[in-house]
Amino acid sequence: MAGYRGEKSLVFHLSMLPDEKYYIFHGIRLLYQGYYFQIDYLILCSAFALVLEVKNISGELKFEKDFNQTTCKKNGNEERIKNPVLQAKLQAKKLKGWLKEHNCTAIPIHYLVVNSNEKTTITSSSGNEQITRHICNSEDLIDKIDQIANFNKEEKLDSKEMKRIKRLLLAKHTPENPDILKQFNLSPLELLSGVKCPICSYVPINLHYGTWCCPKCKLKSKTAHIPTINDYFLLVKPSITNAELRELLQIGSTSIASKFLTSMNLPFTGTYRNRVYHHPPKNQK
Ligand SMILES: [Zn+2]
Repeated sequence: MAGYRGEKSLVFHLSMLPDEKYYIFHGIRLLYQGYYFQIDYLILCSAFALVLEVKNISGELKFEKDFNQTTCKKNGNEERIKNPVLQAKLQAKKLKGWLKEHNCTAIPIHYLVVNSNEKTTITSSSGNEQITRHICNSEDLIDKIDQIANFNKEEKLDSKEMKRIKRLLLAKHTPENPDILKQFNLSPLELLSGVKCPICSYVPINLHYGTWCCPKCKLKSKTAHIPTINDYFLLVKPSITNAELRELLQIGSTSIASKFLTSMNLPFTGTYRNRVYHHPPKNQK
């Protein structure tokens, strides 16, 4: 909840930025030199780009000049954590490389670590300005952005190039699709099969002549299987066969299963008997 609240307050502060000047990208994930990197918030305007690394760490954060170390003290325990400023700096460097790789006009790329936890205190050893000027609390973010804007007044990107970079970022963004079952140490066999009632969540509901009927709340639906199929794509694998679908929905009829798959307009490969249906591409909702 602390993370959620922190994020919400950050979104509130960012909403103060004028839309016509800034593009804001949240959680953009890009491939660079064989690895993905993800930027919490990327702010782009015609004069510069700004990478925000958002931290919601509770306790006391201390930045030490020696060895560029960061420690976090909580409930009397102090431990070293990854220096978030160096993390942000690295993200900015990767973004710079990525933009260059895609033949974008060079622009200054700034970076900031934003503390979104109101209860966290930040301290720093003296002579550490190289690090501390890249840190702020979320309520200070807009002032920081104004400062950066004042130092970077020269417009490097015309509106056409801005739009091109925006389209490029969105097209190349690859959302992470983690293996959730593996993460929770579950096997696909442990998932309940059958279709869930969209109203009362009862599993499994029954199919009568092409209509799903819930024995508990008496709901009737023609589309209740669609969320089940989408869940399967996300939880088990990004493709499904007719036999797998019958198993999943607990239905016997090959022709009904085929009808369901066809009506979802899923891309498919293979000929009729061994046809495999695929999860739709990410830009197709
Ligand atoms: Zn029901």
